[in-house]
Amino acid sequence: MAEQVKVEIIAVGNELLLGDVLDTNTNWLCKRITGVGGQVTRAVMVRDEQEEIVAEIRSALERGSELIITTGGLGPTGDDITLQAVAEATGCPLKLHREALALVKTRYQELAKKRYVGDPALTEARKKMAYLPRGAKPVPNPVGSAPAVILEVGRSILVSLPGVPEELKGIYEDTLQPTLMTMFADSFYQERAIIAHSGDESTLAPILKEVVHAHPAVYIKSRARRFGPEVEILITLSSAGDGREEVEGKISSALEQLKTSLAEAEIEVDRAER
Ligand code: AMP
Ligand code: MG
Repeated sequence: MAEQVKVEIIAVGNELLLGDVLDTNTNWLCKRITGVGGQVTRAVMVRDEQEEIVAEIRSALERGSELIITTGGLGPTGDDITLQAVAEATGCPLKLHREALALVKTRYQELAKKRYVGDPALTEARKKMAYLPRGAKPVPNPVGSAPAVILEVGRSILVSLPGVPEELKGIYEDTLQPTLMTMFADSFYQERAIIAHSGDESTLAPILKEVVHAHPAVYIKSRARRFGPEVEILITLSSAGDGREEVEGKISSALEQLKTSLAEAEIEVDRAER
């Protein structure tokens, strides 16, 4: 079985750690990556401090994660220092990138035409977004002005995305797709769920433990959905691998064992509508 692609996420921004802004980008990325069969192994939040970002990127590279995603800190202001950190962590100094500059220029011309900005001129602050680590490629931003950046470092791919959630989503779903499709081409992810009408989770625990033990490649999670006289527990089974048939087979087999054991324990089961 092909190994799942290991992914790490580094969310950059003081506002996240001050509690002013909720880190929804990480949650959104986790869902997307899991959905295509990748495995997010680690996610951290760091302040807009170059050394902090550098340390996280370096340790992610040392762990050999195949995909390392940063979010935030790509904009025109002085506190946007993610690319400086990428440059330092990888030893690829920042250079003005012609294609990135063209992207920024076109973007500001469009924004000026729509009167979102007064002047399309390439000021130093705007030009800053076109300085990329040597060897990096810009990825057009269909929503905002700062292009995303892809840099291959050994067997890892480092992707830097903007912090604004709409921009991050736009880039991920649009212009980043070719790269992501290549990375996750071999992976398939499936999730199935049932509802158990059981007294409480503790009566389910030994049953789940047995199924988990017999099916190590299937991730099984239980969560109480409703308390009171009618307790409902949602049980989710998920797995990822390199082929649809193989993944579906593993989940079906775990689900069969689970249903049989629940029936033996006289616990009623329903299909889950999710
Ligand atoms: P930045 O790209 O770092 O300048 O971030 C721009 C804006 O995007 C911030 O002011 C936040 O409001 C928002 N933002 C940044 N990071 C995140 C995140 N991880 N989750 C949700 N929103 C974010
Ligand atoms: Mg920021």
